[in-house]
Amino acid sequence: MSSHYPHMLAPLDLGHGVRLRNRVLMGSMHTGLEEEKGLGTISAFFAARARGGVGLIVTGGIAPNRAGWLKPFAAKLSTKREAKTHQRITEAVHSEGGRIALQILHAGRYSYHPLSVAPSRIKSPITPFKPRALTTRGVNRTIEDFVKCAVLAREAGYDGVEIMGSEGYLINQFIVATTNKRDDAWGGDYAQRIRFPTEIVRRTREATGPDFIIIYRLSMLDLVPGGSTWDEVVELAKAIEDAGASIINTGIGWHEARIPTIATMVPRGAFSWVTRRLKGEVGIPLVTSNRINTPEVAEDILARGDADMVSMARPLLADADFVAKAAAGSSHTINTCIGCNQACLDHVFKNQRASCLVNPQACYEDELVYTPTDDPKRFAVVGAGPAGLTFATVAAERGHAVVLHDAAEQIGGQLNMARVVPGKEEFDETIRYFRHRLDDTGVEVKLGQRVAAEDLADQGFDAVILATGVSPRRPAIPGMDHPKVHSYVDVLRGRATIGKRVAIIGAGGIGFDVAEFLTHGDDPIAERKPPEIAEFMAEWGIDTEHTTRGGLTEAHDEPPAREVWLCQRSQGKLGRKLGKTTGWIHRATLKKRGVQMMAGCTYVRIDDAGLHLDRDGKTEILDVDDVVICAGQISNRDLEAPLGRKDIPIHLIGGAHEAGELDAKRAIDQAARLAASL
Ligand code: FAD
Ligand code: NAP
Ligand code: SF4
Repeated sequence: MSSHYPHMLAPLDLGHGVRLRNRVLMGSMHTGLEEEKGLGTISAFFAARARGGVGLIVTGGIAPNRAGWLKPFAAKLSTKREAKTHQRITEAVHSEGGRIALQILHAGRYSYHPLSVAPSRIKSPITPFKPRALTTRGVNRTIEDFVKCAVLAREAGYDGVEIMGSEGYLINQFIVATTNKRDDAWGGDYAQRIRFPTEIVRRTREATGPDFIIIYRLSMLDLVPGGSTWDEVVELAKAIEDAGASIINTGIGWHEARIPTIATMVPRGAFSWVTRRLKGEVGIPLVTSNRINTPEVAEDILARGDADMVSMARPLLADADFVAKAAAGSSHTINTCIGCNQACLDHVFKNQRASCLVNPQACYEDELVYTPTDDPKRFAVVGAGPAGLTFATVAAERGHAVVLHDAAEQIGGQLNMARVVPGKEEFDETIRYFRHRLDDTGVEVKLGQRVAAEDLADQGFDAVILATGVSPRRPAIPGMDHPKVHSYVDVLRGRATIGKRVAIIGAGGIGFDVAEFLTHGDDPIAERKPPEIAEFMAEWGIDTEHTTRGGLTEAHDEPPAREVWLCQRSQGKLGRKLGKTTGWIHRATLKKRGVQMMAGCTYVRIDDAGLHLDRDGKTEILDVDDVVICAGQISNRDLEAPLGRKDIPIHLIGGAHEAGELDAKRAIDQAARLAASL
């Protein structure tokens, strides 16, 4: 056993000769690769995580039948032929010394197709299809399909299955009275409603034998009105143990819940207290989950005794070698998941292949490969934002000589502004990761010097990579030179003193972040601290005593530090282009802080009276102390023409290449692909 993280790296004995090498479970995560023909890329994806030391991997959700599909033609396992294809995954994982369980997920009324079924004919608020109510025979058949899926999983070589009983999917819909109005043996009182999951577990155990791992994902905190009480959760857990499960995993929140449970503003390890409450009630191991993203957090949770295992899903997208690095005492080199959802969940919701903002190789393991070069070159990189950092470190890893320049005294570019936004502190980890990567890959770093074209001439560079990012756009509004006008850069760098009444021009990602920053506290830069779990629970109305149904209580709104108007020229909802899975959280937070959302604005002028604007044919004056401009950006390309004249080959990446729709995901991905190709 490693001397580092002794609790996290301790093996776990499940009886019947089954032993996991450590307490890290890679939680189920849909990547979009589940539907890939031949399952080649997903096999490489899982094999990399097995090689990286994970104790037990759980696949993305696989339906036990067609009705259970998440979307039309989603992955299912109900035939021997499908089982044979899955052997590729299990062989790849086993050859790396890992173990893997298949998650059986029946989406019920969350299915995005017209064949959906549910305990009762009640539409979910997040899908357009009204489900058909299962007949009594249909319920029995569905249980048989779960069991058959588990048997086929065993035949395919899986070490076990996870039965998905949380997040509001079919099994959850049977358990809760608001979605189960049945009057047969599968509805009625709580004992009747939990017969569906307990029968699935019992019959699965009977059919698969004692040494097959059966994980049951149990919704311990529904976060929806009418959800389970704590006593009911305990009753279900005991019944699931009796039915033969090997492990109980924690589920937090139905998908329709309007409370953030995994996004970056959720404090780390925020929900381990829920699992802790179940400790002692059952004898089988308990897994806790949600926003556990460093070995330190995992170790603390396990050392405190909140759970027997920790589940991490996105952190293993971000770094396949998470466990191996922790075991080697190199946790500072882990590429930490920042909880942004931008390349993982947001992609999956748009039917795109998942990847990871901080690790573009994730889910592209067999396509984006950093092979050592046999033709080493010398590159100058200008700009140490995410694009420049990524290019420099990947190119150097491959064997090129790289000199990285930045005008600033520190690396990170705009991430240094993102990291001061409350709830975005995780960007600190990305900067820390790159700092170590620069050292490890041997990049020569020159900070604090603005580079001119002549500085790069005659230095023997084979090419210059311009990663010089962007500058804020200055819109042509009369009064832009008034002292009450500031750019977001001045505000987030702490160079402007902002009054109590503020108008923000521009409601893109940065406008929203600046509104969050200004309403949060008097001086978020000076008082920067990670979000507290208790404050988070109070702000979002989560009952930590779990005395209420679903664990919901009244939310407590702190008075905002400032009165803010957030303005855009276009009509329609503000924040339309924010992330699919996080935009609603940003909107809800600002609403709680009383931010006025103003669409359809024509900016007339800014003067001592404030911001004059036309809206709906009327002129308004926002009597504000300050106006902050967040009106997008333009590329910094000053070096392009002079370098071109010196005949030095140039590559443009990140914001320098294209300012429109730029984000760190695109900057990092583009830089990695260029560095892999030169
Ligand atoms: P930059 O990060 O702009 O870096 C360019 C670097 O080049 C700078 O360090 C600059 O000093 C240097 N430079 C320029 N010219 C020279 C020169 N002549 N000599 C030397 N050095 C030079 N993106 C997301 O994906 N998710 C988010 O949640 C998110 N939040 C954000 C929040 C805020 C408040 C801000 C401001 C941005 C946010 N972004 C976010 C956007 C993201 O930070 C940018 O898209 C990304 O940083 C662009 O990377 P880049 O490397 O192209 O440029
Ligand atoms: P943005 O998303 O393009 O938004 C710019 C805003 O300014 C829009 O509201 C736009 O809307 C307005 N605008 C544009 N030109 C204007 C003009 N001439 N006069 C007045 N208003 C104008 O850009 P951003 O907010 O600067 O963000 C930059 C990038 O960083 C974005 O691509 C974003 O994805 C990324 N980012 C991401 C996150 C995240 O959480 N994922 C957070 C921050 C930033 P109207 O034209 O309707 O006024
Ligand atoms: Fe984590 Fe963001 Fe990567 Fe998803 S995209 S795994 S949330 S860092």
